[in-house]
Amino acid sequence: MIAEIISVGTEILLGNIVNTNAAYLAEECAALGISCFNQSVVGDNEERLSEALRLALSRADIVIMGGGLGPTPDDLTKEVAAQVAGAALLMHEESKKAIAEYFKGIGKEPTDNNWKQALMPEGAVVLPNNNGTAPGCIIPLDGKCIILLPGPPEELTLMFEESVIPYLREHIPGTIYSRTVKLCGIGESRVATEIADLIEAQTNPTIATYAKTGEVHIRVSAKADSEQEAKKLAKPMVKELKERFGNYIYTTEEDVTLEKAVVDLLLANELSVGTVESCTGGLLAATLINVPGVSEVFKFGAVTYSNKSKKKLAGVKKSTLLKYGAVSPKTAEEMAKGLGLMNKADVAVSTTGIAGPDGGSTEKPVGLVYIGCYVCGKTKVKEYHFKGNRQKIRENTVKAALNLMRECILEYYSEKTFGKKGE
Ligand code: ATP
Repeated sequence: MIAEIISVGTEILLGNIVNTNAAYLAEECAALGISCFNQSVVGDNEERLSEALRLALSRADIVIMGGGLGPTPDDLTKEVAAQVAGAALLMHEESKKAIAEYFKGIGKEPTDNNWKQALMPEGAVVLPNNNGTAPGCIIPLDGKCIILLPGPPEELTLMFEESVIPYLREHIPGTIYSRTVKLCGIGESRVATEIADLIEAQTNPTIATYAKTGEVHIRVSAKADSEQEAKKLAKPMVKELKERFGNYIYTTEEDVTLEKAVVDLLLANELSVGTVESCTGGLLAATLINVPGVSEVFKFGAVTYSNKSKKKLAGVKKSTLLKYGAVSPKTAEEMAKGLGLMNKADVAVSTTGIAGPDGGSTEKPVGLVYIGCYVCGKTKVKEYHFKGNRQKIRENTVKAALNLMRECILEYYSEKTFGKKGE
């Protein structure tokens, strides 16, 4: 099975928006075991769209087109696809009703051109849009198919998950079973190096690495006649990865995020937690609080951006700030320990660093971050050097802080001694 992705929209061509839809679709195809050899971006132009679609159909079994399903005359995807497939566009009453209901729900009147979105190519499988107005569709064509999806990412991804995956699973011979092994605290290139032999030798299951902010995911996909068989094929590979990466792996569950893994660890050990943040400015607390059930363990979150608040809320010594500065291992240590002791939290995490773009020096460059983690009387501090803009540095700091919490809690329970400060 070969798929080809065509992203439609002049905005993408001009670089006004980043083509995240294509990245998402490519990743999903890979997970389904569908090869993807070509992708293209085409503006809102009938002739060029038609040409791109014909070319894609000449070399792929599945052509996925994203965007251009809107109500305005420059939204041409469906019209072009129907023409290429030789199918008439007919009013799809159910979609018309869904559009009317959508507008009723948001308290607005549809305009005449909204009904254009309910026109569907004859013979197509209509895909409901549960996040917007434009339905998608799958047009079967000579043993191949054209899949049309709306451009807004939240609409495209939901429709893909709800309707396209089940359709493809039914039409692809055999079953694909995927497991994601999620790692933190290790870079993608090191992961790739450690599994170079597995990648080289892969047949079934296949493995692929994906770099995420502060994390690396390894997707293991196995193909077989039944799900049970596919699971059996994937199992030894997941086991091998667990052996190779040990505690770098925080989960092998699809729906577990790093913050959820940390909160689960706190809940399981009945450990209360507090955060004391400088450069992340509350982002760490907000990330933890994203996890339902965290109220059982989350005690206190402080944003100590100024030196005064570091002293007042976390008990950092004036002499420490004078001697080492706010961005130093000693300050990170005192922040975490002070917050933990002052609030009787079992675990306390601190962040202090230079997020930029200003404020860096040769000695303390932009991206230098110290994270402290206090667990039941012991404190560990680590130094990090992150790259990227201010937001990226802050996001990476949050991931690293979550991972340090995980590491320290695991170490505490395995009774290993903590490493040296600044390690
Ligand atoms: P609508 O019903 O909203 O008009 P549409 O199917 O016509 O949807 P477009 O008009 O092409 O889709 O895109 C709508 C918006 O979706 C764009 O302004 C952009 O914000 C987002 N979008 C479109 N294509 C992509 C893409 N490939 N990657 C990321 N975002 C995209």
